[in-house]
Amino acid sequence: MQNKLVLGNWKMNGRLAANVALVQAMLADPDINRDGVGIAAPFPYLAQLGQLFAGSPLAVAAQDVSRYASDGAFTGESSAAMLADIGCRYVLIGHSERRQYFGENDACLRDKLQAAVAAGLVPVYCVGETLDERESGRFADVVAEQLKTLDAIAGQEYVVAYEPVWAIGTGRVASIEQIDAAHQLIRDRVLQCHGASASIRVLYGGSVKADNADAILSLASVGGALVGGASLEAKGFGKICQSA
Ligand code: 13P
Repeated sequence: MQNKLVLGNWKMNGRLAANVALVQAMLADPDINRDGVGIAAPFPYLAQLGQLFAGSPLAVAAQDVSRYASDGAFTGESSAAMLADIGCRYVLIGHSERRQYFGENDACLRDKLQAAVAAGLVPVYCVGETLDERESGRFADVVAEQLKTLDAIAGQEYVVAYEPVWAIGTGRVASIEQIDAAHQLIRDRVLQCHGASASIRVLYGGSVKADNADAILSLASVGGALVGGASLEAKGFGKICQSA
């Protein structure tokens, strides 16, 4: 079994001074300051994170990347090569908040996945259904459709994150049975499409906290966690990392 991966997703939170205090607390915790843990910060703070993590195995992750791979006239964009240049290892792609608020569609996400792997980044491709999709029994179809986008990078290294939209930031966590079933489905689907050689690591995300991390991370089908709110505080995040 691979070691589990825990990524904190700060979303649109942070300030220079607050980041220093939070990262210092994280670096002081051996459960956090180790291989297999990383933080996805907003673009303005990625270089700061790289500097603060110097000499530590903690990974820097971006929360998004431009779909355009080449330098040039793309005002406001940050390319995968730039993210790699400042030391990012992972990049979240297709987070439900990007799909929902920024209209990111399949074509856009394919480009982003390709740009990321071409620059040597490991994409963390996010999938997950809305409450309506789950309640109307469309969960498996929706997730299978989202996973098709990964065909763009078949055979390359990537991570999948299963984040049911209804469990994000709501405090409503999916049940252990729902998580296990979804992760099995995703693993089967990826194996089917990309063959046994595909490296399949599926993270769970959605209201992961110190008090539910043990149960979630002890599932064999769960390859780690993508942690939003609880990654903004070192003590609880440390407990989650300890469970991994
Ligand atoms: P919460 O842990 O705050 O529910 O967020 C999950 C998430 O969206 C991580 O990417």
